Amino acid sequence: MELLRPSNLAELDGGLFVHGGTEVVPLLRDGILHAETLVDIRELVPRGIDGGRIGAGTTLAELEASPHIPGALREACRLAASPQLRNMGSLGGNLLQSTRCWYWRLKYPCRLHGGDRCHAAEGEHREHAIFANDFCASAHPSDVAAALLALDARVRTSRRELGLAELYRLPDEADRRTTTLEPGEVILEVEIPPAEASIYLKAMDRKRWSFPQVGVAAARTGGATRIALAGVAPVPWLLAGPEDLDGATPLPRTAWKVEVARALVRRALTEVT
Ligand SMILES: Cc1cc2nc3c(=O)[nH]c(=O)nc-3n(C[C@H](O)[C@H](O)[C@H](O)COP(=O)(O)OP(=O)(O)OC[C@H]3O[C@@H](n4cnc5c(N)ncnc54)[C@H](O)[C@@H]3O)c2cc1C
Ligand code: SF4
Repeated sequence: MELLRPSNLAELDGGLFVHGGTEVVPLLRDGILHAETLVDIRELVPRGIDGGRIGAGTTLAELEASPHIPGALREACRLAASPQLRNMGSLGGNLLQSTRCWYWRLKYPCRLHGGDRCHAAEGEHREHAIFANDFCASAHPSDVAAALLALDARVRTSRRELGLAELYRLPDEADRRTTTLEPGEVILEVEIPPAEASIYLKAMDRKRWSFPQVGVAAARTGGATRIALAGVAPVPWLLAGPEDLDGATPLPRTAWKVEVARALVRRALTEVT
């Protein structure tokens, strides 16, 4: 395998991007990703915090220690993964991490791998989705994405600027991808408008080093409050209000997540309003 380290965007020409490698390396090792060329993009992607702008190369460890970012984002980073992973893992890589669905990770020929079945829906799915789960029932694992969605963040890539929600798409028969990023497109930075108050609450199986079973971010800006959830749908999930939880479509063994989400949303709203 060839490893390239381009020093400017114009030099990019295909290959699999790697930043911290905490996601790419295990997926290559397990034969889920394949690449002849790995492109180390650390020289291309800004790193650091400048007002509301955060370089996509900033590590989760740097974010969790920063007094200059909203509380919801700081807390989402602090509660993610382990200290070692947060030291290596970048903001951009976190937003683009793949599903933790064990059927997908074990290479079952499920719909997300291009097959015609959702093995989780028919099988073991305690940790899976409660919204938009009819085609693929995976639960988006990024705490950070939920926080940024509640904070109404925008993303700047090497080709365009978009709202965080537009970075994601629900997979369907015609297109199994869960992001809208095009081949060769690099996330450069994220911009967050100022928030008056924000919080991130996370229910997990262990107290530390665990993916969100349900993560709830709430942010108040200009009197309006946005609520976004991790771990409940194949993409980060925005609620118009707590009543949206009445429209959840849990699988037989994910109904418990609806009750956990209700409790966390209630608590988060009390904190920010
Ligand atoms: C055991 C474990 C536990 C974890 N727990 C949590 C958790 O609780 N909560 C949570 O939110 N996350 C969790 N994570 C995810 C972790 O935070 C991510 O793996 C990490 O942030 C990814 O960053 P990276 O720089 O290492 O990405 P990489 O592995 O380098 O890349 C990940 C993906 O993003 C692409 N990519 C990276 N940067 C860019 C960019 N700038 N532009 C375009 N494409 C890019 C790569 O091509 C690849 O597809 C966990 C991971 C592990 C392994
Ligand atoms: S939930 Fe999605 S990733 Fe998991 S088995 Fe079903 S189709 Fe595959």
